[in-house]
Amino acid sequence: MNGVLEVELSGTLDSNDSLDYLPVERKYFPSIPVGNTPLWHPAPEIPENISKKYGFPELYLKDDGVNPTGSLKDRASFLVAAFARKHDINEVVVASTGNAGSSMAGIGAAAGLKVKLFLPKTAPPAKMIQALQYGADLVLADKNYDQAFALSLEYSNTRGGMNRNTAYNPMTIEGKKTVSIEIFNQLKKAPDHIFVSLGDGVIMSGVYKGFRDLFQLGRIEKIPVVHAVQASGSDSICRAMESGNFNGKQGIPVRSANTVADSICVDTPSNGHLALKNLNKFGGHCFTVTDEEILSAQKKLSSDCGLFSEPAAATAYAGFLKKKATLDSSETCVVLLTGNGLKDINSATNKISVPKNSINSLDEL
Ligand SMILES: *Cc1c(COP(=O)(O)O)cnc(C)c1O
Repeated sequence: MNGVLEVELSGTLDSNDSLDYLPVERKYFPSIPVGNTPLWHPAPEIPENISKKYGFPELYLKDDGVNPTGSLKDRASFLVAAFARKHDINEVVVASTGNAGSSMAGIGAAAGLKVKLFLPKTAPPAKMIQALQYGADLVLADKNYDQAFALSLEYSNTRGGMNRNTAYNPMTIEGKKTVSIEIFNQLKKAPDHIFVSLGDGVIMSGVYKGFRDLFQLGRIEKIPVVHAVQASGSDSICRAMESGNFNGKQGIPVRSANTVADSICVDTPSNGHLALKNLNKFGGHCFTVTDEEILSAQKKLSSDCGLFSEPAAATAYAGFLKKKATLDSSETCVVLLTGNGLKDINSATNKISVPKNSINSLDEL
């Protein structure tokens, strides 16, 4: 699982279209529009805008919550679906904390695929309902995501179907790299810093893969500094970065993960070894933020910028807020926002107050 192979560079020297960097021909992709998400300056037209407020004139938000099923996971599902169609595979099996599952269900529906989905029974209801709407066959694991992962592998090994699990299927990293190629196209350069939230570590490895492809093609001169942000209750990659490995003598014991950011809540990260290798090789940083910091970053992002993201996405913004004092403010920073806030409204109620009473006349105000 941790030794997942990466796909060789498949881009061409002159193309700007991120689909040309993927290892499946264009004709196999379903027509649903994945990617090409906005990269924007928060409110540049307002004098007291957010990038000025924080002293970062070159701060950008990459909003992947606007993908068809509301998360960056669509980039991976898109390539997995194309791969399945090319190879006449008609069933895809996937375990997920919620987003990869609802994504595979939606993109799979657009591609005419059957989807067997394993979710922890604690997954946010919106993500389950989304998957069921798209027509996935849903199985709930009694314990947690790690258990759902194991059950889904047993299912695809013994009963068939192609397994799309994040990190297990190399198309997941490969598909997610398109986000970096888009950022490069939108900025016309690589950013200096990019903030990415970290659960299994696949999004981050995809981000690196995209920039590495661009570097290998001679289109950029350096790999951006990646700031990988974990929730303090789900921090195994940060701990492994300090201790050098995940287990063994000097290693860290598996700790049961717990955070409000359900999409990055994982005991044993399935792509942990590659995540560590990339961070070490390219001088990336890994650090944690608390649930309190995540929820307040989520609220800030919504009320300062108008971008409502789910907690796992706001984690990257919490990371930017925590680190900004240590950065050179003239540098270009991108915060990668991986999922839409409507996916988990329960945790979004923490920092707001819903009116308790209703009125019949304005005199009651
Ligand atoms: C999956 C996901 C992440 C984390 O991605 P990993 O590849 O597990 O590190 C972060 N944010 C959102 C919204 C996600 O769905």
